[in-house]
Amino acid sequence: MSKRVGLYPGSFDPITNGHIDILQQSLAIADKIIIAIGVHPGKIPLFTFEEREDMITRTIKDWDNQASERVQVISFDNLVVDAARKHSASFMIRGLRDGTDLDYEMQLAGMNGAMAPEIGTIYFPASPEVRPITATLVRQIAKLNGDISHFTPKFVVQKLTEKFNQQ
Ligand code: ADP
Repeated sequence: MSKRVGLYPGSFDPITNGHIDILQQSLAIADKIIIAIGVHPGKIPLFTFEEREDMITRTIKDWDNQASERVQVISFDNLVVDAARKHSASFMIRGLRDGTDLDYEMQLAGMNGAMAPEIGTIYFPASPEVRPITATLVRQIAKLNGDISHFTPKFVVQKLTEKFNQQ
């Protein structure tokens, strides 16, 4: 039987407990999950691709070393459906926090589905405790020296602190 490969696209700038929640849920239905970090010229992230990749792999290893064998991190700068095709993913994974996510995700899935009908989208609902988390707010809170330990893994807290101390 062919492997069920899912592509989980996003910015992951940095990975949060919300992303991990969706990753955990998706690993229950997939053989392999490819975390696809979108890198777009013109959009300047806080962390480089390499830094984001390192935070993701460290976090997954700390959480479940066996799961890390079923997760791969890649970057893409083209259409997400083309990244999915290139990596032989048959579906995409997305998380839903609220109605705003749902409205946007319906547009994305509709347009992606028109371009690549063979690739479906699977949504997972955010678990209640991670529902309010966004990477944007995590970055803003960290910049203002706030406590982000409820929102991101320990290693990411450390990296964010280092990043803002350098600036
Ligand atoms: P963010 O919106 O936090 O910047 P991304 O752009 O990296 O995150 O999002 C990638 C995917 O992860 C999207 O499907 C998004 O809905 C999902 N996601 C992000 N944060 C959460 C969360 N707290 N709970 C559930 N899903 C989330």
